[in-house]
Amino acid sequence: NQQFDVDKIRQDFPLLNQNIKGKPLVYLDNAATTQKPQVVIDAISQYYANSNANVHRGAHSLSDHATELFEKARSNVQHFINAEYSHQIIWTKGTTEAINMIASGLAQSHLKPGDEIIISAMEHHANIVPWQVAAQRSGAKLVVAPINEKGELNFPVYKILLNERTAIVAMTHVSNTLGTINDVKEIVHCAKQVGAITVIDGAQAIGHDHVDMQDLDCDFYVFSGHKLFGPTGIGVLYGKEDRLEQLPPFQTGGEMIQTVTFQEATWNALPYKFEAGTPNIAGAIGLSAAIDYLSGIDRVGAAAHEQRLMNYCIELAQDMGDITRYGTAKNRMAIFSFLLGDAHPSDVGTLLNQQGIAVRTGHHCTMPLMNELGIPGTVRASFSLYNTQEEVAMLFAALTKAKTFL
Ligand code: PMP
Repeated sequence: NQQFDVDKIRQDFPLLNQNIKGKPLVYLDNAATTQKPQVVIDAISQYYANSNANVHRGAHSLSDHATELFEKARSNVQHFINAEYSHQIIWTKGTTEAINMIASGLAQSHLKPGDEIIISAMEHHANIVPWQVAAQRSGAKLVVAPINEKGELNFPVYKILLNERTAIVAMTHVSNTLGTINDVKEIVHCAKQVGAITVIDGAQAIGHDHVDMQDLDCDFYVFSGHKLFGPTGIGVLYGKEDRLEQLPPFQTGGEMIQTVTFQEATWNALPYKFEAGTPNIAGAIGLSAAIDYLSGIDRVGAAAHEQRLMNYCIELAQDMGDITRYGTAKNRMAIFSFLLGDAHPSDVGTLLNQQGIAVRTGHHCTMPLMNELGIPGTVRASFSLYNTQEEVAMLFAALTKAKTFL
């Protein structure tokens, strides 16, 4: 694993090779979105140049070809996450839309007054607000499982919160703010003991780790293509077959119907029941190319490389001092959330940007978590497989310089 060739990987990502403010770009905002390898850019461009047509119309060869590429992309995702059937893969705009589809459907078909929905204190707004709305619509109650001082789920309390009223457990696989990797298998296992439906937000996990639907055994798992080196505007909702059958459609219109009269309509079979309108065909094809790209590299080596970057980051932070870290869980992705002295995170972000370093600052769409931590936000450096040790060193050199301005 020491052999992971990051220089070679970097050559696959054209965007990385540029200057910002006259300095080489150091892109450390990978939790927000990842950069795209040339093969993904080419797949999208080739689709539009050679194969563009609407799908599932079956009237001509181009349409047949586009349909074939689109459905091949679906089965590629199926194998990537080890789902049983390709019709369990529903195309969405991304994680946010996928959670909205589940929450709104369950509010209509499953939730009743007095039911409880458990989320955790580290959720992204995308896994909070749709459940708030679902609770308001159905008379259910939102219950928040707390985290400990390291930013890990407080498991004993989570287990106490589970009871016969728990209808849904919706939790993140990995925290985008703290980097915590949740033991989702155990979370799902415990939820099943009380018969709750499990929804896992895989937005941050999917780009870094192998996920296996049949092993995880959750009811729903969702993620965005753009965090996985694929394009924006495409994401995935995976669901257990029976759960998807029971879930009402999110949007209605073309493609998702079987028959329509002026009075009523019947729904198409899975997965089309959830895919009203012309889908993001190029997005699906781009995401499929990203999965092929990942299959061609040493993913275990990449994950080990990211952990080494994280460890180096922690080491340099200790040497530098004056850094308060947020998120020190034992199992963590390479996400480094911190504050520099008492400087405002956005000031630190601006000073880093002037030195070519891209980080994210603020609440990271986890305002309730920030309230729990008693801070307005953090500076977040999030690493991907194409980041280097030198870039970590450049981050700390830039922080040292920034300190002199603060
Ligand atoms: N959940 C988590 C944990 C995330 O990190 C993100 C993206 N920041 C989302 C949900 C939302 O993803 P998207 O904006 O792609 O829908």
